[in-house]
Amino acid sequence: MSTETRKTPERHIYLDHSATTPVRPEVLAAMLPYFGDKFGNASSVHRWGREARMAVEEAREKVASLIKADPREIIFTSGGTESDNLALRGVAWAYRSRGNHIITSAIEHHAVLHTCESLEKEGFRVTYLPCDRYGMIDPEEVKRAITKDTILISIMHGQNEVGTIEPIGEIGKLAKEHGIIFHSDAVQSAGKVPIDVNAMNVDLLTVSSHKIYGPKGVGALYVRKGTRLVPQATGGAHERGMRAGTENVPGIVGFGEACRLAEKELPEESKRLSALRDRLIRGILDKIPDSILNGHPTERLPHNVNVSIKYVEGESMLLNLDLLGVGASSGSACTSGSLEPSHVLLAMGVPHEVAHGSLRMTLGKSNTEADIDYVLEVLPPIVERLREMSVFGRGQKSKS
Ligand SMILES: *Cc1c(COP(=O)(O)O)cnc(C)c1O
Repeated sequence: MSTETRKTPERHIYLDHSATTPVRPEVLAAMLPYFGDKFGNASSVHRWGREARMAVEEAREKVASLIKADPREIIFTSGGTESDNLALRGVAWAYRSRGNHIITSAIEHHAVLHTCESLEKEGFRVTYLPCDRYGMIDPEEVKRAITKDTILISIMHGQNEVGTIEPIGEIGKLAKEHGIIFHSDAVQSAGKVPIDVNAMNVDLLTVSSHKIYGPKGVGALYVRKGTRLVPQATGGAHERGMRAGTENVPGIVGFGEACRLAEKELPEESKRLSALRDRLIRGILDKIPDSILNGHPTERLPHNVNVSIKYVEGESMLLNLDLLGVGASSGSACTSGSLEPSHVLLAMGVPHEVAHGSLRMTLGKSNTEADIDYVLEVLPPIVERLREMSVFGRGQKSKS
């Protein structure tokens, strides 16, 4: 046994598109000239500068179009994390004289949660709303949490771990009625489900390039006209004074092209991914006893599969899948590697030991029906083997 050499898997099936996606060839092609001849600084007045400025503004239109915004309401940033930080810190400090209360949820991405925790240390009061067992936030809970001091509500659109799509339109309507600024992190939903910032009544919306086949290190914050923000990076007057720093021209060009393609392909691709998603979910629940779907059964991102498989550890399944060429994730990419189970599953009321056996598989452009069938062929025997070896053995109580 010990002398047996590990075979390199013949298949490579990437099922972690919520962690990041590859840059698509069209996007790379659009970017390349801006690493070469078209190297200008978009703030310069000469022809090199004008060429870069034109490219940035063209990209701004493409990003705006994806979320039905006005291009003048798009601020380019270094990604989803910076956009969330700018939205929360920027609004908190701009509206500090009006009140110090912020409403968010317990299932936000850490870019929002950790920023809220940091704002608490600076004297703001934050309400972290619970969710139901499907990871859904009830607009009634939002309504109940509003006080005369509430200045900001931040609730994500598509949940990154369990895929639940939150009732953003209803929450936006509430926020508007009460004159409260509303931010939504739409990093996972942009390009996957239609977004209309006006229909949804959001004042600020976060998007990121590398989750939709654009380059890493670039994103945007939609800022509704009239919404004030205290800039978090000060310097030049870039991005309407809200985000200083020379624009990442190649990154922005790539992001714009990724948005254009995502918008064009959205109706067809979301249908295709939903079908693959449902095939994978149904297959796992049918073939693996004691497996449970996490997240909402229907109000769900088209590319998200999240299951808990009882009596096995998520990390062990990941390693075994990796040996067979399948790249998945347990919980979120940011928490895997740590022993704490996902804060999202815990907020949904999933017991610790069940949360430890969770597996997230997020689909994308490269995935086919054959990929799904391969996973459905290799995963059940992995689970069976692990259960046989497991100290959590079926029916036995775990020690922790
Ligand atoms: C990935 C992600 C982020 C962070 O975006 P980066 O561009 O990687 O900084 C924020 N929110 C959600 C929901 C995400 O999935």
